[in-house]
Parts: sequence; structure tokens; C-alpha cells
Amino acid sequence: MTMPIAAMIAPVTPLQQNCTIVWCTKTMKAAIIDPGGEVDRLVKALAEKGLTLEKIWITHGHMDHAGGAAELKVRTGAPIEGPHEDDQFWIDRIQQSGEMYGIPEARVFVPDRWLKDGDKVTLGETEFEVFHCPGHTPGHVVFFHRETKFAQVGDVLFQGSIGRTDFPLGNHQDLIDSITQKLWPLGGDVRFVPGHGGMSSFAAERANNPFVGDCVIAAMKAQGAAYQTPQNHSPG
Ligand SMILES: [Zn+2]
Ligand SMILES: [Zn+2]
Repeated sequence: MTMPIAAMIAPVTPLQQNCTIVWCTKTMKAAIIDPGGEVDRLVKALAEKGLTLEKIWITHGHMDHAGGAAELKVRTGAPIEGPHEDDQFWIDRIQQSGEMYGIPEARVFVPDRWLKDGDKVTLGETEFEVFHCPGHTPGHVVFFHRETKFAQVGDVLFQGSIGRTDFPLGNHQDLIDSITQKLWPLGGDVRFVPGHGGMSSFAAERANNPFVGDCVIAAMKAQGAAYQTPQNHSPG
């Protein structure tokens, strides 16, 4: 049996952000999740695989995730879906943070569709579910393909870490709640692509993650404010 979707990770920008090309294997229609930059390379990758770009999906408004969306839309005509409108603050700042981080080509964009919790986005003959997962940014969303138990979670959760919450509008408790209340119920067998670094599964993170592992959450509940999680050095 062929899988209904396939995926390919193409890290972009000096921050090695995991831009992900996903496609419907029946129609060869693709979505690019988080085109932070290097649009030439992404367009070439689509052509090499014989894919037609149908959608541009954005997890959150940080420039390493969304800085190439405007150019990709101009070049392909594909609409931009996401993030949640609470990330307007970050979208407005894409150009200036791009200059700060050495990505001068990063551009502001206007989404064709804002996404909210419970939305569905179609791709060819299949569809992904949308979960609003604030904390790293207020308008962060996660894309989930239930049939194959595949998720692209952006900077919400990493292998062995979680997203930073020390940026403006970040909120640590919101992030913990997003992960434990929105992601964990989707099942331990969900495999996910994070915004940076290697893939993992929800079960592996519940077992080992020093910020949101089951033992850590239990200890936080038992000890309250006295519980210290390690320093977060995550890249995004
Ligand atoms: Zn990031
Ligand atoms: Zn980020």
C-alpha cells in the first residue's frame, strides 16, 4: 500500500530551520511548510520531484520560518495558509529581524487564510488538521496528518527540548499546556518534524524530554514553583 503522503526536509537559512515539503502521493500536489528562505533551492526541489506547489503553510511568524513565504507565493502563485492571527506582531517584524540575523531577503507577507484551532487544510486528495499551540509565539500552529500520524510542530517541541519563551509575547506555561493538552492526546506513535534538529516521536519525548517528559510534569505539579527545569538553549 502506498502512503497517502510523503515528506522531505530541506533545512534553510543560517539557522538551519527544517523547511518541510509534504505532498499527496496520488496527485503529486505539495505544500511547503515554513519556507524561511532559499526559495530557489525549494523551487528546484519541487521540480526535481515532479511536484506542483498547491499550498504554503506557516507554523509561526518568525523570519527563519516565514521569511521566504512572500517570494515563494510570487513565484508559484500558491496561497499562504497560517499562522494564527495572533502572530501578526511577529510577521510585522520579519524584515527587521532578518537583517539582524543575516537573512536580508526575508520579507513581510499577508496570509491568504489565517488558521485557528480545529481548522482543516487540504492538500491534493488528503487533509491536515490544525492545532493552535501558543507559548513560543502567541499564534503558533501545528500541522497534523492523522492517517499517517505525522506532525510538523515548528518551534513548539524539539527532540530533547521545547521552544524558547524568552522572546516578546512568549509564555512558558502556555507552551507547556499546548504540548501536554494539544499534542500528547494525538498519540505516542506520532512522529514529528520540529523546527530545528532531528525528528522524534511524542512517546520518546514523554519518556525523555527534560522540559515536558511525564516525570518532569508530575514533579512540577508536586513541587509547584520550587521545581527547576534546566536552562533552555534551544535554537528557536
Ligand atoms: Zn525556529
Ligand atoms: Zn520560532
